Amino acid sequence: MIKIDGREISKKIRFGLKNKIDILSNDHSVIPGLAVILVGDDPASKVYVGMKEKAFHKLGLVSETFRLSADVKLDEILQLINNLNNDNKFHGILVQLPLPDHLDSLEVIKAIDPKKDADGLHPENLGNMILDIEAPLPCTPHGILMLLKYYNIETNGKHVVVIGRSNIVGKPIANLLSKKAKFGNATVTVCHSRTKKLQYFVKQADIVIASIGKAELIDASFIKKGAVVIDVGVNRVEDLSLEKGYKLVGDVNYAEVSKIASAITPVPGGVGPMTISMLIYNTVYLAEQSII
Ligand code: NAP
Repeated sequence: MIKIDGREISKKIRFGLKNKIDILSNDHSVIPGLAVILVGDDPASKVYVGMKEKAFHKLGLVSETFRLSADVKLDEILQLINNLNNDNKFHGILVQLPLPDHLDSLEVIKAIDPKKDADGLHPENLGNMILDIEAPLPCTPHGILMLLKYYNIETNGKHVVVIGRSNIVGKPIANLLSKKAKFGNATVTVCHSRTKKLQYFVKQADIVIASIGKAELIDASFIKKGAVVIDVGVNRVEDLSLEKGYKLVGDVNYAEVSKIASAITPVPGGVGPMTISMLIYNTVYLAEQSII
């Protein structure tokens, strides 16, 4: 069984970006910059934003977080995004999701200049993705593709079952893996909360991608022997033996599934670091595009 090490691959990807960052800085006086908009006090979002900022600073990149209160009005966010769209210091803008219920995340994402869309979630860039036009890809799905690539996991002709149909993970990864491309060409089944006989579908998968948000829902009974399992979920479950009072687990029961899978991502240390690496990748790409 191979433990797919997202931290290790992330290091390689970030190291590989150093040359591009040096060229931008030395030859063009450009330091790739990311503006992050964080709305409210959600503890998990705060942790993710902190991790993103740290990763950017470690590479000498600009990362600035704009914190807004949970009851902020839509107009105020749109005004901030408009300002950031026109601020040359920032090549990428990211709105940390989810947003509080009173805010329509699509309205907010649509306000980002597609040329500064660090998360690749603007409708124009999602359209580009579907049409094979070069554009920033959504970070988590792109990170999953990179894991498959680095571990040389064949997707051609394989049956992939994606559990979850979110705009940020499920829908784009299903599209990317079904493309006529290397690390595509898979037959993809998308399951969701209305799927009847979830276990029946998942059990047929050569590759399972779980993006559900339900702690350890997928146990060994769902998995075909030798399947590759990519666990996107990050769930907090109570653990009073730890000082913080909780631990992070995925959507997959790692202890059980790792005994029958041929390869599996752990949580933490699997998909999570890759999402941040692809955010850096996109920001560097957008900075490069800004000088063409
Ligand atoms: P989301 O928008 O909440 O979507 C969850 C999907 O799972 C929905 O399509 C939902 O179906 C489906 N679902 C829910 N319960 C189900 C069940 N019992 N059986 C089958 N399908 C079910 O979530 P998301 O944004 O994709 O995130 C999912 C998880 O991944 C979360 O834990 C999140 O924190 C994590 N995440 C991690 C990263 C990372 O970098 N590691 C990045 C993004 C997300 P319906 O569509 O029918 O509601």
